[in-house]
Amino acid sequence: MIKLDNVSKRYKKGSYFSKKYIDALKGASLFIEKGEHVGIVGESGAGKSTLCRILSLLELPSSGSIKIDGEYITKRNIKSKRGRVGIVFQDPATSINPLYKVIDAIKEATNDLERIFHICSLVSLKEELLHKYPSQLSGGELQRAAIVRALCMEKADYIVFDEFTSALDISTQVKIVSNLVEINRQRKYGFVFVSHDIRLVNFLSDRIYVIYKGEIVEELVGLKDAKHPYTKSLINGETTKRNDSGSGCSFYEFCPYAKEICRNKKPELLRKGNYAVRCFLYYD
Ligand code: SF4
Repeated sequence: MIKLDNVSKRYKKGSYFSKKYIDALKGASLFIEKGEHVGIVGESGAGKSTLCRILSLLELPSSGSIKIDGEYITKRNIKSKRGRVGIVFQDPATSINPLYKVIDAIKEATNDLERIFHICSLVSLKEELLHKYPSQLSGGELQRAAIVRALCMEKADYIVFDEFTSALDISTQVKIVSNLVEINRQRKYGFVFVSHDIRLVNFLSDRIYVIYKGEIVEELVGLKDAKHPYTKSLINGETTKRNDSGSGCSFYEFCPYAKEICRNKKPELLRKGNYAVRCFLYYD
């Protein structure tokens, strides 16, 4: 299991004389078990990319903890544990070294050619493309090569897909998505699907975390359970601007149900079984 406990991430911005801090994640707690498909959904700027980088062990949190299969990830061991989690980035050019032929980049993950060719067939990547350089592939082909590389990592039990269908046309998306589900029936990876597209995430996932301005505002099994006003706005295709929300609820400015208490007080995440929501409307 990957387990994040009360994880926050703060970045410094600006020059020495005008230092600013950006709180990209604020107290996020979540878990992903092997064999499970977990969705993380939110608008651009919500903190999803930061969450991806922490889940895939590219960065440590500023506070809070991350554990993989019961072991804390620290400065000392983060590099040696990196192979436990594969990542397919939104920009596939980031996943494949441009100086290597595609096959050589994938061979960094495994030398098992039979496995490489099998996974290529599952994601419709022609074998002849493996002998080209990344710059000779289209965005969609490169995205599929990045998926092959992640699925070939021999020690990986978890794979994070960050907006992974963005470079693919609809028919390829459908094919790859159903093949990924099929692969996981046998292999039992923990898959994490990260996207702004709540319907795609709902289709792919057993459980969903909704993130807004760096906070998890709702955890749910399917969209039919959605209660938080922000989750409902995502389902309706509405977007919000990222303003500073002050000391109250992060969604206060856009919420059609906002009450006086929401302006100055932050709601806690209330949990009932495998459902959780951060909203005063659901306080008893
Ligand atoms: S806490 Fe208040 S402002 Fe925030 S989502 Fe709930 S009702 Fe809306």
